[in-house]
Amino acid sequence: MQATAAPTPALARELDDQMRTQERQLVVVRLSVVALGVAFLLVFGEPIAGRFALIGVLAGVAAYSLLIPLLMRRLPALPVAVAGVVLDMLAVSAVVWLATNVPDAYLFYSLVILGIAVRFGMVASVVAALAMSALYVAIEIAHTGLEATQGPVLPVRVLYLVIFGVVAGLFSQIIRRRAAENAVLQQRLQADEGERERARERELLSRLARDFGSSLERDATHRAIASGSAGLLGDATLLLTAEPEGGRLVAAAADGRDRELAERWRALLDARRVRLGEGAVGRAAQRGIAILEPARDDGPDADAVREVGADWILATPIQAGGRVLGVLATVGRGGREPDERLRRLADALADRAGPALQNAILWSDLQERVAREQYAQRIKDDFLSVVSHELRTPLTSIQGYSQLLEARLRGERGASKEMRHVRVILSQVTRMRRLVDDLLDVNRIDRRGGVSIEPVPFDLAELLREAVNRVRRMEPEREVTLDAPETIAVTLDRERMDQVLGNLLDNAVKYSPDGGPVRVLASVSGHEVEVRVTDVGIGIPPEQRDQVFERFYQADDGQSRRRFGGLGLGLAISRAIVEAHGGGIRVAPNDEDGRGSVFSFRVPLIATAADGVAADDADAIPPFVRGRTAP
Ligand code: ADP
Repeated sequence: MQATAAPTPALARELDDQMRTQERQLVVVRLSVVALGVAFLLVFGEPIAGRFALIGVLAGVAAYSLLIPLLMRRLPALPVAVAGVVLDMLAVSAVVWLATNVPDAYLFYSLVILGIAVRFGMVASVVAALAMSALYVAIEIAHTGLEATQGPVLPVRVLYLVIFGVVAGLFSQIIRRRAAENAVLQQRLQADEGERERARERELLSRLARDFGSSLERDATHRAIASGSAGLLGDATLLLTAEPEGGRLVAAAADGRDRELAERWRALLDARRVRLGEGAVGRAAQRGIAILEPARDDGPDADAVREVGADWILATPIQAGGRVLGVLATVGRGGREPDERLRRLADALADRAGPALQNAILWSDLQERVAREQYAQRIKDDFLSVVSHELRTPLTSIQGYSQLLEARLRGERGASKEMRHVRVILSQVTRMRRLVDDLLDVNRIDRRGGVSIEPVPFDLAELLREAVNRVRRMEPEREVTLDAPETIAVTLDRERMDQVLGNLLDNAVKYSPDGGPVRVLASVSGHEVEVRVTDVGIGIPPEQRDQVFERFYQADDGQSRRRFGGLGLGLAISRAIVEAHGGGIRVAPNDEDGRGSVFSFRVPLIATAADGVAADDADAIPPFVRGRTAP
């Protein structure tokens, strides 16, 4: 032990193991010596006195030699070794005592001394040599009396034993040092191997963590967790997930070296839907701790461990965000129960499965919510479409007949009162139709992500004149001027452009309640045309100018603008139309007149359908709104 002054527990274990090996080897040596001795005595031992007693002693040696391995299973190696040495010494002494006419029997003491030297080192070897010399001298004196000490024979023999003790001690020194070095080396090798093994484990775990989180889809995540873990755990591995409401666990995915076992186990637990607190799996989920259990023959088998013929189950909870999301369970058949390493691996796998499982749950919740919202949106859209369409039909009739009436009254004298009434009807019905059309449009923009346009060649100047005349007809008292080139050849969506002009002119009139003038100006520069609509009305507070193009937005300057009516959709739709043509729209204060607003938009002279959302997604629209709805 000198070579390892303060052995670590691992080294002490290693040395103890070595001593056990050594004792087992010495048992073989003892039995060989006994066998040789018995054979010798039987063949040549006739003249030896006490031959059968000697055979008896040798049989005793064989007997305790055979006991040594059994004792070492229960006791530490050292006391067994010491007991063996003492018995050896006694056996040799008995041999020396019995074989009175064999003077060299004392030489057997050297075997015992050698054994002690090998086991306990130099000092023990010399002490043993001295002790055995004394024993030997005592036996000789007991046999022959004091005259045995006369003459050189006894001192020479004692000297031999002592010198043998020293030499054996020196010899053992070398052997023992080498053994200690070997033990240290062995330990270092094991430590290195352990470190390598842990590094391999770490790498594998981080790869698995990546695999676990590679998909957000719930089933794929479940499969990745079960299959990734299966390779490292028991014969079959099962992932159970906690039901969001109610304390049950669902068998989500299974895999394992024994596929058939894994599938059978999954099917059993799937049908069973283990409750929290039930079986090892249920308790692991309830308490949030790993549970290792042998298959029991008594009591209910909630985990179906016995039913699938497994011998043990290890259930490790999977947690994230302070919640148990599931259980990683594994079972094994035959062999030993899971060791520390397997339990550590199960913990590490469950740690990595937690965030992946949580992400998958969040993702699927999100998808469900989106699907629900999409459904609600679709119902709203369909409702709007139906209502708007149902409203448009009667409005179209009212509008048509009041126009007819207005035309007829225009020719009649003395019908100015009726004429006024019809104009009110016409203006209100036109307004209502525009509201319904706006709702329908916004709905379509929502569905298709933009306005669909159908560019055709036409004269924009003519369209401007028509729009301005329309306002003049509706508002005969108001001054509405147009400043535009004679013709402006464009390829745009004529109806949509008319709609934008209508919106801007309506607003200019609507938000100039004092009857102020409205000016329309159009100019072409390069490949673009710009149209400005100027009024001297109530204007828009500067901080709200950007927002008037948002849907359902109505500017507010403290006074109630609600009195003007409207839904706050016209400008949002106009912007969508202008942008679909590849242009832009904006509003500025009317600095020239000191009050009112200037709305202006510019569009390319030739718009291509690609700028807008050209293709009608006919399937997305209910059959009754299919086709173009004219404003
Ligand atoms: P609506 O006129 O139906 O409310 P719009 O989208 O056409 O909806 O206009 C949005 C808001 O912008 C209006 O509510 C109004 O407050 C403001 N606005 C639009 N045009 C003018 C204008 N010419 N003068 C002053 N305010 C305007």
